Amino acid sequence: MVKPKNYWYYEVSKTAPQYALRYLSEAWKRCFNRVSGQPKFKKKGRDDSFTLDGSISVGFNQIKLPRIGWIKTYEVLPDNVNPKSVTISKKAGRWFISFKIEKETQMTEKSVDVVGVDLGIKSLATLSTGEVFEGAKSYRKLEAKLSRLQYLNRHKTKSSRNWKKAQLKIAKLHSKIANIRKDALHKLTTYLAKNHSHIVIEDLNVSGMMSNHKLAKAIGSMGFYEFRRQLDYKCQLYGSSLTIVDRWFPSSKTCSRCGFVKESLSLSERVFKCEHCGFSCDRDLNASLNLAMAGSSSVSACGLDNADVARLKQE
Ligand SMILES: [Zn+2]
Repeated sequence: MVKPKNYWYYEVSKTAPQYALRYLSEAWKRCFNRVSGQPKFKKKGRDDSFTLDGSISVGFNQIKLPRIGWIKTYEVLPDNVNPKSVTISKKAGRWFISFKIEKETQMTEKSVDVVGVDLGIKSLATLSTGEVFEGAKSYRKLEAKLSRLQYLNRHKTKSSRNWKKAQLKIAKLHSKIANIRKDALHKLTTYLAKNHSHIVIEDLNVSGMMSNHKLAKAIGSMGFYEFRRQLDYKCQLYGSSLTIVDRWFPSSKTCSRCGFVKESLSLSERVFKCEHCGFSCDRDLNASLNLAMAGSSSVSACGLDNADVARLKQE
């Protein structure tokens, strides 16, 4: 029914609608399995993307696509790769092309054996080695600029030429802020996977955490799942292992020196003080030390064994 009514159907490669239908079927499957909600309709100008397959060849800084032909890329492409399909997307006026490639594990020399990582409110991450990743700060200024831009353009008529111009400006600023955050997260996960043979992180209750706005901002919309996803593949790439500790493990309430567990610890308490042995240190550092300890024994303190970890990873 679609084809005769929509002439554009014949202008594009036939794989673009095929993949769209395939993605739709996957989305419905996820919905029926109660993994996610109902798929939403696509809308022009929002998450624009399509997938192509067929004969694709990759050059130094160009790529040949079916129906479209050679396209120059800004970035230098990896050599000796043969992608089966590519996805082209448009974001804030820029075009992106992405494809999967296979990579062998590159073992790097690890300076630290076990490291615990605590994702925090004030800083992006605190490692049990004492290192602190502050995270990107520079985007705060951009956020002020963004809200000003949104305020100034609040009266523009929707879909008008000027509205579209303003929308593009806003979208560009949005993606700039997202990129700054992304960059900080990538730097952190690469550093962890390259220099530590065993990484222990906590499984965070993200939906519960989002009720706390400060936390929501620090780990952000991209969130904990993106952090875990990056660590997961980078650990495979650099030959290190990842342990995810159960979310009910009291990493911040436990004393890392004597093992005493506090009754309660409010978010405003930045320094951990043990009533039992008198130990005191930075709250996030204490939590990361506990995570490192939980990970160094094969069965962690909360009774999570490797099978559980594997299951959690798959989830
Ligand atoms: Zn103690």
